[in-house]
Amino acid sequence: MYVPLMNSTSSLLSSPPETYWGNFDEVSKYNVHLNVFERLWAAWYAYMQNDVLATGIMSFCMHELVYFGRSLPWMMIDRMKWFNKYKIQNQKIPTRQEQWACARLVLLSHFTVELPQIWLFHPMAKFFGMQTGVPFPSLLTMAYQIAVFFVLEDTWHYWSHRALHWGPLYKNIHKIHHQYSAPFGLAAEYASPIEVMILGLGTVGTPILWCATTGDLHILTMYIWIVGRLFQAIDAHSGYEFPWSLHHVLPFWAGAQHHDVHHERFIGNYSSSFRWWDYLLDTESGPEAAKKRRERRLAREGKKVQ
Ligand SMILES: [Zn+2]
Ligand SMILES: [Zn+2]
Repeated sequence: MYVPLMNSTSSLLSSPPETYWGNFDEVSKYNVHLNVFERLWAAWYAYMQNDVLATGIMSFCMHELVYFGRSLPWMMIDRMKWFNKYKIQNQKIPTRQEQWACARLVLLSHFTVELPQIWLFHPMAKFFGMQTGVPFPSLLTMAYQIAVFFVLEDTWHYWSHRALHWGPLYKNIHKIHHQYSAPFGLAAEYASPIEVMILGLGTVGTPILWCATTGDLHILTMYIWIVGRLFQAIDAHSGYEFPWSLHHVLPFWAGAQHHDVHHERFIGNYSSSFRWWDYLLDTESGPEAAKKRRERRLAREGKKVQ
């Protein structure tokens, strides 16, 4: 028998079992066509009996797990001398105290700013028709939607980050994020709560905008997008540039090399994932970009003299 576990998964079972695994067995019995992840997923919503709460708890735990889980290897790498040759500003290894102070502020902002944002996401996205049920969308659908989110978020990030470098906004909001001139993974979300809100809007608002325009978004796509975006932000702050870093394969990918210069020089390289905005608007940072700019200026002046 096929039980269409669509959007309100919680209302489908007449007398739901009390335990999570009881729900899992029940879902499995009637939905043999679902894969194990889809069954685990459907059982969670059926068990919780409250979709907003189910999404809220799952998203918050996932965010914490990925944020600290992804930062941990970078902290270990900082303690291994062998990796020092790959550190971009290799004379500046963060101390344990610095990392601990950073983790404390990050945790505080996770509980005070990000938690309400995460909680509000479900009702908002639901309002625009986001799906939470099973079966999941195809890998291809998720992949192209996530690619669109990366491009749109990068655009939002470029402009709002560039605005945050304007005097009064920098002094009152963005300065906190620039406390570490040599960034490390954990410092990715080390920022003023206002900044977390402004830049977070690009991450959360992009899929909502997409859902409002196309009506086609599954919350699993949203989760994978958030995981991808967290990896991108943490790795960009890692401070390490390897011969196998992604931008060697995808030259338009920003990566750590791009963002590290931003922290070191406080100017230029404003985008998050890609290099095209900085390239097109001539806001690239670093000695190489400065050299090219100088050469262009000299060529212009040379033409004028002729
Ligand atoms: Zn900045
Ligand atoms: Zn940064």
